[in-house]
Amino acid sequence: MTTFESLGLSPEILKAIQDLGFESPSEVQEQTIPVLLEEPTDMVALAQTGTGKTAAFGFPLIQNIDLNSKKTQGLILSPTRELCMQITNELKQYAKYYQNLNTVAVYGGASITDQAKQIKRGAQIIVATPGRMKDMIQRNIIDISNINICVLDEADEMLNMGFFEDIKEILSHSSDQKNTWLFSATMPKEVSIIAKKFMKNPKEITVGQKNISTKSVSHEYFIVSGRDRYSAVKRVVDANPDIYAVIFCRTKRDTQKVAEKLIEDGYSASALHGDLSQAQRDMVMNSFRKKQIQMLVATDVAARGIDVDDITHVINYQLPDEIETYTHRSGRTGRAGKEGKSLVIVTKSEVRKIKQVEKIIGQKFTQEELPSGDEICKRQLFHLADEIKNTEINSEIDAFIPDLEAQFEDLSKEDIIKKFFSVEFTRFHNYYKNAPKITQHSVDESYSAGGGDYGDETRFFINIGEKDGFNWMSLKDFLKEQLNLDRDGVAKVDVKNTFSFFNVPTNDVEKVQSTFETFKLKGRHVNVEITKDQKSGKSKKFGGDRKRSDRGSRKRFDKSKSSDFKGKKSGGNSVKSSFERRRKKS
Ligand code: AMP
Repeated sequence: MTTFESLGLSPEILKAIQDLGFESPSEVQEQTIPVLLEEPTDMVALAQTGTGKTAAFGFPLIQNIDLNSKKTQGLILSPTRELCMQITNELKQYAKYYQNLNTVAVYGGASITDQAKQIKRGAQIIVATPGRMKDMIQRNIIDISNINICVLDEADEMLNMGFFEDIKEILSHSSDQKNTWLFSATMPKEVSIIAKKFMKNPKEITVGQKNISTKSVSHEYFIVSGRDRYSAVKRVVDANPDIYAVIFCRTKRDTQKVAEKLIEDGYSASALHGDLSQAQRDMVMNSFRKKQIQMLVATDVAARGIDVDDITHVINYQLPDEIETYTHRSGRTGRAGKEGKSLVIVTKSEVRKIKQVEKIIGQKFTQEELPSGDEICKRQLFHLADEIKNTEINSEIDAFIPDLEAQFEDLSKEDIIKKFFSVEFTRFHNYYKNAPKITQHSVDESYSAGGGDYGDETRFFINIGEKDGFNWMSLKDFLKEQLNLDRDGVAKVDVKNTFSFFNVPTNDVEKVQSTFETFKLKGRHVNVEITKDQKSGKSKKFGGDRKRSDRGSRKRFDKSKSSDFKGKKSGGNSVKSSFERRRKKS
């Protein structure tokens, strides 16, 4: 077995390792540390979060610092503020026996003045998010012209988040002589481009297989109609009373909507997305970390850098647009030697994407049936029974036992058990007795229906557009949500300034017309009309292309019939999970 001693680490670092209780190097550490310590080199390392990669670059970086100089010598760029703080904390622990080594974290959403003060005191290592770093370089607060080493951590995530230009700008202020160490969980094209652009003959290291997701994660999917996504998630949650999950949605809108519905239904959930302030996001993350929140409903961007070890399930409310992102999602569970499940809710038309994901993760999915109402009631019941059986008896209760016994004198043990459990069981049973049926589909059926080939389509004009904050993607989401259509049910979305166009299958024309008949968006009437289809060239019933000026300002709906955009609330079918009940009690 390889030891830390054999990797060439300094006595100071070895002592810190001992304090941290690390027994032996992880695979990525074993592979990278000797190479990075031996001679100056560029490196591309493919390694997932949770593999010990911070130490893999952290130890050699620390050992490379000239403690006699206060100049900034090492820079680590990381995608999120959380990760940035995490890396800084780790480095401080690794370098605790180097008295003159200063590591400073630089990230957005915190006081730039405080960070500038820390930098002024001398920061040999800076750990930064790209946006704030660029800002501080431009304000001449940070000088990175002397750095010898630049680490690009979670490079794929940084690029996903659109930091390419910022990284380019930051690196242009550093010397060509420096070494760049790039760490990434996946190797999409963009990361290869970075490797080519900024690195010279980098050594390549791969831990595990390329692009493989954590092995301790099993991958399952459920095929349901788009409108049943939420009910499907609810069943999964109810069938797993101890679930501690991240639910990923594609859009902020869906994230907010799913979180709100869960909360309305009595679950302990919270949304995490970019529309929240940094302080709000911190609060949500802290509560989730402390397990005061059982389910975090998040967008991919907001969830980056989340480092929570005990997540039991990742639920993909929808698959991500970029299939590669699935690896990041599923990697949130199955950490630290634990097992996890990554579940995907797909519609018939999306099911073929599962094959693409399988190729990327190098693992097979299994198709599962959602648990039935009876199954859920049974699981909840026995979960409660286990909890009761494992509850420590509080002796304070002894004083009340005679009176309690008197109260139950007439009842048999069997009746007492029945009554006791009915308190919980009846709530679930009543809900699932009346719960709407979820239609589930087979794979074969899905393949024949997939691909979004709806034959005849009808093109609509709608008087909302960029001015209302939409782009094609968010408008598509908005439409499919309002119309209860699958993702492929809305096509060829073309967003202009004050109006847009979209296609739906001709079968759904009436649905569009009735949905928007009385619809208001932020108090404004929304007008949809069938228009001449420029793309397919078909002339439709109400036909006629309009002049642009005419399109944006049509208001002809009966105000008295209008419904508010945000006004919908789901019914009160509330079933609390036992996690929530326990939490509320505690
Ligand atoms: P990372 O992949 O850097 O996020 O590391 C995941 C966690 O593993 C961190 O909490 C580290 O402190 C811990 N860790 C790193 N290296 C080792 C090791 N060799 N043995 C045990 N734990 C480690």
